[in-house]
Amino acid sequence: MTDSVLFPVADHSVADYLVAESVSKSYGATHALNPLSLSLQKGELVTLLGPSGCGKTTLLRIVAGFTAPSTGRVLLGGRDLTPLPPAKRRMGMVFQAYSLFPNLSAEDNVRFGLTVRGVSRAESEKKLKELFALIGLEEARKRYPHQLSGGQQQRIALARALAIEPQVLLLDEPLSALDAQVRLNLRDEIRRVQRETGTTTLFVTHDQEEALAISDRVVVMQQGRVAQLGTPEDIYRRPASPFVAEFVGTANGLDAVALGGGMVEVAGWNAPLAVEGARPFARGEKLRLYLRPEELRLSELRPNELRLSESGPEGDLSGQVTDRRFLGSITRLSVQVGNSTLVADLQGNEAAAHPVGQQVRVSLSPLAAHVLRAAPVAETQAELAHV
Ligand code: ATP
Repeated sequence: MTDSVLFPVADHSVADYLVAESVSKSYGATHALNPLSLSLQKGELVTLLGPSGCGKTTLLRIVAGFTAPSTGRVLLGGRDLTPLPPAKRRMGMVFQAYSLFPNLSAEDNVRFGLTVRGVSRAESEKKLKELFALIGLEEARKRYPHQLSGGQQQRIALARALAIEPQVLLLDEPLSALDAQVRLNLRDEIRRVQRETGTTTLFVTHDQEEALAISDRVVVMQQGRVAQLGTPEDIYRRPASPFVAEFVGTANGLDAVALGGGMVEVAGWNAPLAVEGARPFARGEKLRLYLRPEELRLSELRPNELRLSESGPEGDLSGQVTDRRFLGSITRLSVQVGNSTLVADLQGNEAAAHPVGQQVRVSLSPLAAHVLRAAPVAETQAELAHV
């Protein structure tokens, strides 16, 4: 089968399967959601990511039909769903709180939607068998919710949502009530099940690591608007604004001024730095420079090299290790450079060579830094304070 058969280019109903078209929501003077548009391809998992109050749940609820948009439409396969109530939309939902019926066994919870839809006993038995195998919980079919762990309950909730073969799966922070390890396992499970069933999925989270790990594409939201829409790599490596750079992942954010020709002056550092991404900026423009902790390379600075106290065009800086935190797979070092503290993530044996107090050379490739025009500081900080 060729790609053109799978995804016929002219067929917009396939390319744009689920579409939110200029949807907005206001509650009196509060604009929960400014008009925004979003389309999901069939089988895609798209995450809405952002701090509390940015409008993620409002958008999800508009798609589900629980909230009527103030403007705009929701389309599925080209059909306008906006006037339809939730029950008529063929969408499966999993919420943050375990929402199983407490008086029904796991299998009766999953069977519920099938019974409501008049599916025959034989057919629903077949479906239950498939679903319990899919979520790997065959042995728990007869148990009641109070006899299941939080992670197991969420798997049952996922099976219940999938039982009706929904055209769209909506997941509203389904992992946030779970312990860290269960959370990681279930995250992978959800992705596997979503891929195996090919269900188009909209996933809401405020956890950036979760969003990067699970998604085909991520929508970063800020104050009821889309701050950036892209693949996890785009969002992480090429953030579109200081807000996205600082919300997604750990970044060393530095104030700098463009000197022209790809050179920048970082506030508090003594010498200019070569940064490829700064080329388009005119001399004097205020910038924010972002360095991911894994992009920094450290080497010990010997006593006879201590005079290297300035950055050079080759991107070397001198600094001092001031703190270290063991985080398992990496060790995070704090390095004082001029009046900035940079964080550098090193693998175990690399980190062991740099004790606290050591003078180090910090090497930066000119391609390592991501450069953005500085946003008004108050705006970014006020936003991040909500996280
Ligand atoms: P969280 O992660 O905390 O759930 P969110 O990104 O999902 O946040 P929403 O629940 O969509 O945010 O809320 C967006 C904004 O709309 C918030 O300022 C919220 O206070 C407001 N809001 C949501 N629902 C209502 C309502 N029914 N009446 C008034 N304001 C509302």
